[in-house]
Amino acid sequence: MPSTKSPNDLFSAKLVFEFAKRFYHTKTNQRGHLTIVIDFELTEEQEQLRNTVREFCAGEVAPYIKEWDEKAHFERSVFDKIAELGLLGVCIPEEYGGAGFDYISLGLVCEELEACDTFLRVAMSVHVGLNSMSLLAWGTEEQKQKYLVPQAKGEKLATFGLTEPNAGSDVVGMRSYARRDGDDWILNGEKMWISLGDVADHFLFFCWTDQEKQKVRDHSGISCFIVERSMPGFSSGTLHGKLGIKAGNTGYFSLQDVRVPAANMLGQEGEGFKIAMFSLENGRYTVAAGATGVIKAARDASVAYANTREVQGQTIANFQLVKQKIAEMEADYQMAHLLWLKCGFLKNEGKPSAKAASLAKWQATTRSEKAASMAIEVHGANGYTNDYPVERYLRNCKAAVIYEGTRDIHTLMQADWALGLKKEKSARVTLPKYQAAGAK
Ligand SMILES: Cc1cc2nc3c(=O)[nH]c(=O)nc-3n(C[C@H](O)[C@H](O)[C@H](O)COP(=O)(O)OP(=O)(O)OC[C@H]3O[C@@H](n4cnc5c(N)ncnc54)[C@H](O)[C@@H]3O)c2cc1C
Repeated sequence: MPSTKSPNDLFSAKLVFEFAKRFYHTKTNQRGHLTIVIDFELTEEQEQLRNTVREFCAGEVAPYIKEWDEKAHFERSVFDKIAELGLLGVCIPEEYGGAGFDYISLGLVCEELEACDTFLRVAMSVHVGLNSMSLLAWGTEEQKQKYLVPQAKGEKLATFGLTEPNAGSDVVGMRSYARRDGDDWILNGEKMWISLGDVADHFLFFCWTDQEKQKVRDHSGISCFIVERSMPGFSSGTLHGKLGIKAGNTGYFSLQDVRVPAANMLGQEGEGFKIAMFSLENGRYTVAAGATGVIKAARDASVAYANTREVQGQTIANFQLVKQKIAEMEADYQMAHLLWLKCGFLKNEGKPSAKAASLAKWQATTRSEKAASMAIEVHGANGYTNDYPVERYLRNCKAAVIYEGTRDIHTLMQADWALGLKKEKSARVTLPKYQAAGAK
């Protein structure tokens, strides 16, 4: 019998098969036909990791977070405990002191931590996403041994210094600079709005190394250095009066004639901008997963409250407009979760993920703000006090709409991708594909 399939059908079938090979497991049914099984289940290891983080948050952070937030107290000892669990090197290979999990596990950790409080996830973002993952990809073997290993073990805290008082979205507007002096570089500059800025031990510092290129705003004149707090000429301080993330440390640091060996340059001279964009892509992934945790926390708090608060002789869970808010939180949680999961999958496979990370970050952060705001409404006046956690969720999640690319910047980037004006760029250095320890 002649085939009734058109070339288009065959093309579609091939595409489906290619897609299936990548995203789905296949199994043979009783009749011997190959069937496709969609598997969004976590592995046993990932599930155990998620439960460990959940238990850690419930025992070590949740009972104290209201007080830390109220007093704007940064509890350094929490990070010693997080380090003991291996979370500060969760997706760093074991050969570099890490726990050797995949990149999806990093997302799971971020989602769980931020469901408790944002300050925990912010530390993961800067320490792992923006700093350690960049050392893993761009670092020399010597840099990895000296800086990445103690960071992955959690012996040292690390962060990322790009923003300056007059240069945030406009990275090339930075004024920090370095000049060569024999085998060393002399670094000068001020970095502002740096998470863990007043407590971290290691910093990535971005600055101009070519003044001619700076004059014409050519970003190939920017380089990146690894700086240690203990280096003479380094000073830092804490920023006060923040709207949220009060339990976290946000600071500034200043370098005045800090001498660093040339061996502390990350990547090659002039690759600083590319390293910054690479780092931000990983950071955005962690922010997306964390913001998804805020949506989940807002949903869970709303469900618990709606099931107990009685009005007119019935729980408010019976009111349709309360249901609508909870339904929207549920839908937003599921969508945001899938977006970061897809991005984590691309990272595991060593595929370009800049577009996916930007989309996940933009959507999750925007939706987390909406979810936290709706959760306050579900709680009525109670939601407006810190007797309940939802007001903290709203104060905390606002910053993520601003950092690692503002909502405006991601909106424009997504439009440019859709319009074909922007493409995933090929790079000299990419994030190493995930390899399970036994598979290496
Ligand atoms: C809590 C917190 C933690 C942070 N942690 C870090 C950190 O660890 N390391 C670090 O380096 N930085 C950090 N930042 C800084 C953050 O990344 C910047 O604040 C962010 O990039 C925005 O820059 P800006 O504040 O200078 O705003 P601006 O760039 O001045 O933007 C102001 C407004 O103009 C809009 N705008 C600017 N440029 C454009 C454009 N080209 N097109 C359209 N609209 C535009 C923006 O969307 C925004 O609405 C942190 C910030 C906060 C709030």
